[in-house]
Amino acid sequence: MSRITSKFGGSSVADSRQFLKIRDILDRDPRRRVIVVSAPGKRHSGEAKLTDLLYMCHEAVRKNMPLEAPFALIRDRFLEIEKELGLNAGMAAEMEAFHKQIVNGADRNFIAARGEYFSGRLMAAFLGAEFVEPAECIFFDKTGRLDPRSYETLGARLKDESKRYVIPGFYGADAHGQVKTFSRGGSDISGAIAARASRSELYENWTDVSGLLMADPRIVENPHPLDLVSYREIRELSYMGASVFHDEAIAPVREAGIPINIRNTNKPDDAGTLIVAKLPEVTQYDIAGIAGKKNFSLFTVEKNMMNKEVGFARRFLGLFETHGVSIEHCPTSIDSMSVLIASEEIGDKSEALREDAQRILQPDKLEVESELCLIAVVGEGMARQIGMAAKVFKALAEAKVNVRIIDQGASELNIIIGVANADYEKAIRALYAEMTRR
Ligand code: ASP
Repeated sequence: MSRITSKFGGSSVADSRQFLKIRDILDRDPRRRVIVVSAPGKRHSGEAKLTDLLYMCHEAVRKNMPLEAPFALIRDRFLEIEKELGLNAGMAAEMEAFHKQIVNGADRNFIAARGEYFSGRLMAAFLGAEFVEPAECIFFDKTGRLDPRSYETLGARLKDESKRYVIPGFYGADAHGQVKTFSRGGSDISGAIAARASRSELYENWTDVSGLLMADPRIVENPHPLDLVSYREIRELSYMGASVFHDEAIAPVREAGIPINIRNTNKPDDAGTLIVAKLPEVTQYDIAGIAGKKNFSLFTVEKNMMNKEVGFARRFLGLFETHGVSIEHCPTSIDSMSVLIASEEIGDKSEALREDAQRILQPDKLEVESELCLIAVVGEGMARQIGMAAKVFKALAEAKVNVRIIDQGASELNIIIGVANADYEKAIRALYAEMTRR
């Protein structure tokens, strides 16, 4: 029998009622055998995510501040789930031992990963499933990247197709065997790794929305749902701010050709969004969606005859490398070159970058502009259509939005434009209306 890997996010495991919903979902399809869980998320908007509380505990010990308030919230949440489900998973003793570990200076990664660990322990006890310890079968190499041998190790651990397995998301072990987490939201990546390792036919990602929408509903009123989308499109959309799915979770399943289905734990009858390798010839719209991110800065240097100065671009880009700043785009003209960077990447390095740029490049002019945003119109269908760019710029012109940057990758998968932060919402609304007009 082929299997399905089902990953449940923070809101899906937030309390005992959510655990009951998960059991129902799993019982509906016997192929759902590999279960990956996040740490409990928020039950309501005023509450902190459990992972954030764990980071707080670590900070508290580091700064010699009281740990009890955040720790009590963590402990009570797990004890409550255990009690309400009538389980006897030994949580009280576990919590006492964990408290000691924190006080004794346990590592930040280890502490953060306990959210998923305890969530997984409770879920395994509740389902009568086998608990799989990620630190024993998901490995990072010396550079901090996933060691591809993890697929075999985890695959061997998940060998018995008749069993239900529960794997905590978010972590594995580093080259020295110590617990190491993925980046925030990384349980999606664990789920993708488990899907590939177990050779699942489908990777289900259960969350609290019925899939993706073509635009952010906080900006566009009632955007259309995205029923079918390609891996390439979803990667662009999630990188550009559509926050339902971690952008690094695409690669493991994409390489193995496993489709991803984003589903809603609270509305299990909704079909959600299906992410596949190849879209049908005809899709409903030419675009998959519109996403964006605010707060970018643009470093521009102007220098007469720059185009004749061999190595100028390398020296300019090298500045950012030296300061460990990752860049986003690099628009150029004959005598000017700009680099667009997320403002948080620059942090307090702005002055140092300016000084180095003056010294090394000796430009005629150096300008740093901030408060810019990037908006991406994404869709494989755009490559087949004439006039897509015209539509984008017509919409922006009619909305009286000034375009600062234009970038279209050679793949024709997206058109990215940079506008002032203040125009962000207005630009997205105008683009959405134009690109979905029939
Ligand atoms: N609990 C982790 C976080 O909050 C990982 C996850 O939920 O995917 O980032």
